[in-house]
Amino acid sequence: MSANTELKVDILAIAAHRDDVEQTCGGTLLSMQARGWKTGILDLTRGESGTRGTAAEREAEAKEAARILKVSVREALDLPDGNVQNTLENRLKIAGVVRRLRPRVVILPYWEGRHPDHYTTATLGYEACFVSGLAKVETGDGAAPHRPYKILYASLYSAVRPTFAVEITPYMEERFQSLMAYRSQYASRAEGSGLFVPEEEIRERTFAMARYCGLLAGVRYAEPFVQKEIGLVEDVMMLPVASI
Ligand SMILES: [Zn+2]
Repeated sequence: MSANTELKVDILAIAAHRDDVEQTCGGTLLSMQARGWKTGILDLTRGESGTRGTAAEREAEAKEAARILKVSVREALDLPDGNVQNTLENRLKIAGVVRRLRPRVVILPYWEGRHPDHYTTATLGYEACFVSGLAKVETGDGAAPHRPYKILYASLYSAVRPTFAVEITPYMEERFQSLMAYRSQYASRAEGSGLFVPEEEIRERTFAMARYCGLLAGVRYAEPFVQKEIGLVEDVMMLPVASI
């Protein structure tokens, strides 16, 4: 979307691929937007290596998904799809975006997983956020240093036990529709059909994962997250999620 230099966001989700955010934390972005927070997405790659669809098609789809997720900004870097590496150059590229958008909360993928781009993005994104706060590091665009306050890891792809969940019950359908915006990936097509599952199966899987996470948290649908820090509680009387 736009590269307006005045635009800042409260919450920035950084992901390796277009459609990762839609699968792991799109409902959370919708819920936070409804609470009045400005949300944004930074995709590190543009999907040029995908079996289906061109990078241009995926760009149009990502824009449509961003509209459904009501994010204020969505940008994509040009890291090679399938070969995301934690290099100084890539840390500086991401730090430049973090300095410009100045998020308080950054959402990254969980640091273990099947796809190297996903787990590399966890470390690359974390280190980029650190570098972004270093006054003596130049990112090239003159934006002032900025370090996000909180880093969360979206853990839906992983079997790790989440440290907390965000209820997304009112946003479940929109979240699913944002994923379905990627027609080139998910619509029924003959080409590469062994790799891709039909819409009905994706729907069942998406809802089942969110329902399972919801059950863990005592709500209908939820998205799982891991934070490295412990939780701090002011009033134990207000702790949510029943124990027995
Ligand atoms: Zn991905």
